[in-house]
Amino acid sequence: MKGTVSKLKVVVGRDLLHANAGRAGENRALFNKNKVATINLISSPGSGKTTLLEKTAELLRGKLKLGVVVGDLYTVRDAERIERAGVTAVQINTDGLCHLTADMVARALQEMPLSHLDLLFIENVGNLVCPAAFDLGEHVKVALLSVAEGVDKPAKYPGIFREAVAAVISKVDLLPYTDFDLPACLAEIHQINCDQQVFVTSARSGQGMDQWCGWLGKLARKSGWKQYKG
Ligand code: MG
Ligand code: ZN
Repeated sequence: MKGTVSKLKVVVGRDLLHANAGRAGENRALFNKNKVATINLISSPGSGKTTLLEKTAELLRGKLKLGVVVGDLYTVRDAERIERAGVTAVQINTDGLCHLTADMVARALQEMPLSHLDLLFIENVGNLVCPAAFDLGEHVKVALLSVAEGVDKPAKYPGIFREAVAAVISKVDLLPYTDFDLPACLAEIHQINCDQQVFVTSARSGQGMDQWCGWLGKLARKSGWKQYKG
């Protein structure tokens, strides 16, 4: 019919998510036992997840012990970058799959010295859709969005912005070269999730990185993660 857009709802297999949830619970028990706060970092490709982690590692050196599990379709480039920043990194190649599963993370954890860590990042595959549905056992999800993207990303992908306890807006040093409307984006995010912490950052200039690292410190120390999914 002219002028009518039809909507089709697709439901991810319930058994698949059920099995994933079981394994995620086992991962979470392992994080709790080792007292490691764990963050599932989710964004589109190219929003600057790895760059944020490199800069974060630099700023937290000597303060918090970090580890990173990096998800990517095929390459080990991101893990190599993170290791150069002095952080233990384990790469997961999903061989084309567009999200990480709890099972993949469980296998990566066998290589991760959890008892030596304060904070573990799981850098998910660049994708704003299905990573929101797959619990990996993390305590919190963080969504990342760069100013080179559209301000309507939160409205288009509300699932991840609803689930994430914090959002990082990255690459704000590029603001003068874009027509990204920062106040409009902040308003969109708060409309979806009014409790969400938002950090306006640039890994390149360092803007907002102290606030971000301060929040990470609170999450990692004194079991700050327990308020989320202890
Ligand atoms: Mg990356
Ligand atoms: Zn996927």
